[in-house]
Amino acid sequence: MQQNLLDLDLAGLTAWFAEMGEKPFRAKQVFRWVHKAGEPDFEAMSDLALSLRSKLVERATVASPEVMREELSADGTRKWLLNVGTGNAVETVFIPETDRGTLCVSTQAGCALDCAFCSTGKQGFNRNLSVAEIIGQLWWANREVGKNSEGNWPITNVVMMGMGEPLLNFDNTVTALRMMLDDHAYGLSRRRVTVSTSGIVPAMDRLRDECPVALAVSLHAPNDALRDQLVPINQKYPLRELMAACQRYLEKAPRDFITFEYIMLDGVNDTLKHARELIALTRDTPCKFNLIPFNPFPQAPYQRSPADSVRRFAETLIEAGIVTTTRKVRGDDIAAACGQLAGQVQDKTKRTALRIQEVRG
Ligand code: SAH
Ligand code: SF4
Repeated sequence: MQQNLLDLDLAGLTAWFAEMGEKPFRAKQVFRWVHKAGEPDFEAMSDLALSLRSKLVERATVASPEVMREELSADGTRKWLLNVGTGNAVETVFIPETDRGTLCVSTQAGCALDCAFCSTGKQGFNRNLSVAEIIGQLWWANREVGKNSEGNWPITNVVMMGMGEPLLNFDNTVTALRMMLDDHAYGLSRRRVTVSTSGIVPAMDRLRDECPVALAVSLHAPNDALRDQLVPINQKYPLRELMAACQRYLEKAPRDFITFEYIMLDGVNDTLKHARELIALTRDTPCKFNLIPFNPFPQAPYQRSPADSVRRFAETLIEAGIVTTTRKVRGDDIAAACGQLAGQVQDKTKRTALRIQEVRG
C-alpha cells in the first residue's frame, strides 16, 4: 500500500521518513513541495536526490479526493463535489471576495446530529473524513483556482462549515488544522481558520488546549426548550454548559470573541422576544452574531425570515452593543449556500458519476 502524503502532518511525515532511513530535513523539503508548492509529482521535486525521488514514486502518493462535479455560481462562488467512496460525496466551496478567498471545508460525510433545519443532518451520518480528505480540499482548491498575480495561493481563510460536525471527527480535524497553520505548508493565521460547532462541550475544551483557532458556535435559539428542538445535541450539552465552555475557550483563543451563528427561521426563533433573550444569555460572553438567512431545501419544514424581521432582530442586538452581521447569501443558484450542501448525496453520486467524463473532458 502506498502512503498518501496528504494524510501526514510534518511530524507524521518526519516519522515516516525516519522509518525509510531518511533525515528530518528531507521530510520538510517534501512537505513544502507538496503543500507550499502544490506539487504532487515526486519526479518534479528537483532538489531531492534521484534515489529519494524513486523511493517516493514507489512508496508514496499525493491524492486528494476525486472531483465528480464542479459548479460555478454567477457571483463567482465555486463548488466541487468530491467522491469519498462507497457512494458518498462531500462538497467544498470557494468564496472569492476582494480582500480574501474563503474555503468552506467538510469534515464528515453526512452528520449524526440531525439539526432540524439542516439538509446534511437529514441525510444521516456516513463516516468521518480522513486527514487527506480534509486537507485535500484545501490542497486541491488552491491548485484549481491558481495563484494570484502576486504569486500567492488564493485561499486566505478556511471555515469548517461544510458538511459534518468537525469536533466529532476531532483527531483528523486537528491534524488538518495543524497543517493549515504550519508555515511549511499553508501558513494560515489562527484568526483566519474557523471551526464551527453545534456545541460539543468537551471537544471545545480539547480544541482550546490542543489547537486553538477562531471559533463559531451554532446557537440558533436563546433557550433550552427551543434549542432542544432545533439543535438536538443541546439535550446533552445545554446552554448553561455551552456558554461556560465558550468562556473557557476565550481564555486561550486567538480572537477575543466567539462568533454565534444564528439561523433566521420565520416565526420560530426570529422575534424581538428571542433577540432580548439572546442578549441576556450572552451578557457575560464577548461575542459577535452572524445572522444566517435560512436556505430552504426540498421538504424543509421552515421558511426564511423576511428581510424586515432580520433587520429588526439585528438592530435589537446592535442596540445592546453586540456586533451583528447578516450573512450574505452566496452561491445559492448552485445550492452551495449553508446547509444545502450535497443534499441527497447518494442519489447525486449516481447521477454525477455519469458526468465525470464530461467534467474531465
Ligand atoms: N456542524 C457544524 C458545522 C457545519 S454546519 C455546525 O453545525 O456548526 C455550518 C453552518 O451552517 C451552521 O451554523 C449551520 O447551522 C448552518 N446551516 C445548516 N443548515 C442551514 C440552512 N438550511 N440554511 C442556512 N444555514 C444552515
Ligand atoms: Fe450537523 Fe451542523 Fe447540520 Fe447540525 S447544522 S446537522 S451539526 S452539519
